[in-house]
Amino acid sequence: MRIILIFACLFCCSCKTNTKAQPSFLHSGEVFQELQLPTPNAVRTGSGTPGNAYWQQQADHDIQVRLDIETNTIVGSERITYHNNSPDTLEYMWLQLEQNVHREDSVRSREGRSTGEEAYAGITISRIDVDGTPVTWQDYATVAKVLLPKPLSSNSSVTLKIEWSFAMPTEASLRMGFDDAYEAGPVWELAQWFPTPCVYDDVYGWNTLPYIGRGEFYTNFGDYNVEITVPAHHVVLASGALVNQTEVLSQEESKRLNEAKTVNEKIVIRSVEELQKESSEEKTWKFKGKQIRTFAWATSASFIWEAASVEITILDDTTKRVLCQVGYPEEASKVWDEGVEYLRHSIKYYSDTLYPYPWPQMSMSRGSAGGMEYPMIVFCRGSSHEGLFNVTDHEVGHNWFPMIVNTDERRHAWMDEGFNTFVNHYSLENFYGDREHKPDVSKYIASKFMHDLKAINTPPDLLKSRRHLSYRKPGYGMQFLREEILGEERFDAAWKEYIHKWAFKSPRPADFYRCMENTAGMDLQWFFRGFFEEPMQLDQGIVDVKVNADSATVTFANLENWVCPVDVTITCLDGTTHDYKLPVTVWAWSKQHKQTFKLPSQAVKVQIDANEAYPDINRHNNCWVQM
Ligand SMILES: [Zn+2]
Repeated sequence: MRIILIFACLFCCSCKTNTKAQPSFLHSGEVFQELQLPTPNAVRTGSGTPGNAYWQQQADHDIQVRLDIETNTIVGSERITYHNNSPDTLEYMWLQLEQNVHREDSVRSREGRSTGEEAYAGITISRIDVDGTPVTWQDYATVAKVLLPKPLSSNSSVTLKIEWSFAMPTEASLRMGFDDAYEAGPVWELAQWFPTPCVYDDVYGWNTLPYIGRGEFYTNFGDYNVEITVPAHHVVLASGALVNQTEVLSQEESKRLNEAKTVNEKIVIRSVEELQKESSEEKTWKFKGKQIRTFAWATSASFIWEAASVEITILDDTTKRVLCQVGYPEEASKVWDEGVEYLRHSIKYYSDTLYPYPWPQMSMSRGSAGGMEYPMIVFCRGSSHEGLFNVTDHEVGHNWFPMIVNTDERRHAWMDEGFNTFVNHYSLENFYGDREHKPDVSKYIASKFMHDLKAINTPPDLLKSRRHLSYRKPGYGMQFLREEILGEERFDAAWKEYIHKWAFKSPRPADFYRCMENTAGMDLQWFFRGFFEEPMQLDQGIVDVKVNADSATVTFANLENWVCPVDVTITCLDGTTHDYKLPVTVWAWSKQHKQTFKLPSQAVKVQIDANEAYPDINRHNNCWVQM
């Protein structure tokens, strides 16, 4: 009965306001229809958690690598122990060979976007052995297919031995690079530098999307033992804990490093006065990294090395200290003098608010890479203290997304960049306090971004406006979801559940959506569809206000294809203001919604979204004032 009355009312309104034949404001309601998500199963449940049959592969790496500074070449050999935890038998494996992105036959070069490395030879693999048997492989630039001599059955392991080398790219700085701008010697930053198995998972099987550059990386968790041989006067920072410090450091340096592990105040482990220009010897630095999704490192004779540590509370409510260390050339010292403090802030803040930082140390180096994240190490640059803090906080934040929550960055960049941009906003607020700062989420302005309307959940290699669609817009969307749709209590419980359930596992967007809906207890299909899955727009407006002495009847319009709750503020003649939040379901079948509000006196102003928190592309129709 009620439904019939409402439709009758709508019909009257349309007759009065529009004489043309139309059902112009009838809403088909498709935005509310259920998203077509994969059917839940025992691997990924309907509540958005890993199921009791969840599995993922594990790839443990023992790597020996030498930096030959005479030829500027990286020479490596590795033993990969690959554990097939899947229920499937594998007859072949795919490897990632990401340095081949510089080669002429890579997808990137053939797109006409060469990295500038002329006639680059790529990775030279001299040999691959599988369980001791030499095998052949098919090279397709940034991926290669290895035919296994015998099928690898479920719940068994295989050992790959690979020997390889590549010339250090000197022109390109694609997430790593060679930086020869310093008096005391160049900086080498190495990332995505060793052959490693592509991910085999329950959703796509082998994940073989090529490395083009916009998409970052999706990799297996594994335990790493890495031995890095460099000239004896170099410092090495890496994705692991240094396990042979007495072999590579002077007694004094070793003592300082031990002290840094126990104190909050910065300790200089190697000062500018202690840098040496040359050495004819070499030293091998040994690192261990447990359950990390890749391994990166940086080395230089230029590195001034500073460190301190920070105490965090871990999962069992005890505490531990995390070593925070930086390596930078003297030329950067005006900006880098506070680097250790920045790391301490970010490690502590994200440990307290998201998940305890699980590893023993975090390093940061200054070379050619402007801002890039790897487990336990970030590569940063900044031209001011503020610039360096902001980039440090962002790259360290990536140690939660995607280093702990292992997102497929080649397909869903927004689940690491967007989520990280979102948490950076609160970390910056915590760091700066009342001081002025500009978080990335604040740079999203819906009305100024109409030219590249693609869905956020588009693989980043297919996005033109990656900065906007992978970072700012999803970062803003998460903040909007927290502060305007769910509220902090409901959001924070769901968000923590998502992080804790998926720590050291790999969620897909459907898992995130389901986990948030289940824990927050709210249907958010319309939100996820309009914000992440489809490029919908929001324009709410006020089309009519009728006032009485004790009430106001307002007709709201939804003028674009997305929907949201309506945040209404009514100001009355007696000076009182009244806030209402109309649920999103007011748009279930109509693009217009009429509602009467009881008031203490006559309304003089009606406003929607008074705080300008909504992604409304046209704010000119958001306010009615009594003339
Ligand atoms: Zn990032």
